[in-house]
Amino acid sequence: MEFEIKRKRLIEGLRQHNINERVLSAIERIPRQLFVPDNEQENAYADHPLPIGCGQTISAPHMVAIMCDLLDISDGMKILEIGAGSGYHAAVMAKLAGSGHIYAVERIEALALSARDNLKKAGITNVTVIVEDGSLGLPQFAPYDRISVAAAAPEILDTLTDQLKVGGKLVIPVGRLYQELYLVTKTDGIKKEAKGGVVFVPLIGKKGFS
Ligand code: SAH
Repeated sequence: MEFEIKRKRLIEGLRQHNINERVLSAIERIPRQLFVPDNEQENAYADHPLPIGCGQTISAPHMVAIMCDLLDISDGMKILEIGAGSGYHAAVMAKLAGSGHIYAVERIEALALSARDNLKKAGITNVTVIVEDGSLGLPQFAPYDRISVAAAAPEILDTLTDQLKVGGKLVIPVGRLYQELYLVTKTDGIKKEAKGGVVFVPLIGKKGFS
């Protein structure tokens, strides 16, 4: 079956998660096969995680959709992603941010290199992939409108909430064995909302797991 047909079917499947149309349209505009290894091409539009090498995974499309939906990304935003992996999630956010910019941090250099390559092939020009320990955020471009964390942290990290603008939002999976996805909104304080159980690879780093 052709990628385009599979992509349309995936979008129909994502509707059961009540994802807003803007997010669905961003997903529809990203050729996911460009972010998936050669030996997983036939599964490029399956709604589950896939191995991308170095023991890491590209998240399932519904998880990317749910996180983008929670972040409520609009045109022009400056966004930090922790855990660039294949670059796919950053590509979807790049469509949602339009004239904005995504800084995507990845600790494994080989993955960062292939993420850059994948993004280039997909024609995405508003993502910068940086090799760093994202558990410390990325202070040089802070503050951010939105922060999206794609690896499970030990707690909601102050390093990240400190780098959010007032009015900004963060999505972050928290926990080692049982993980919960949190939506954090920074106002005059910090509002935390639990959004359900999830499964992510661990965030490894100074403020992450060892
Ligand atoms: N968003 C990715 C999936 C990421 S999987 C995609 O769309 O493909 C989680 C990624 O987080 C892995 O690539 C892992 O290497 C990375 N990671 C783990 N700890 C990290 C840290 N402290 N800083 C940056 N990246 C980290």
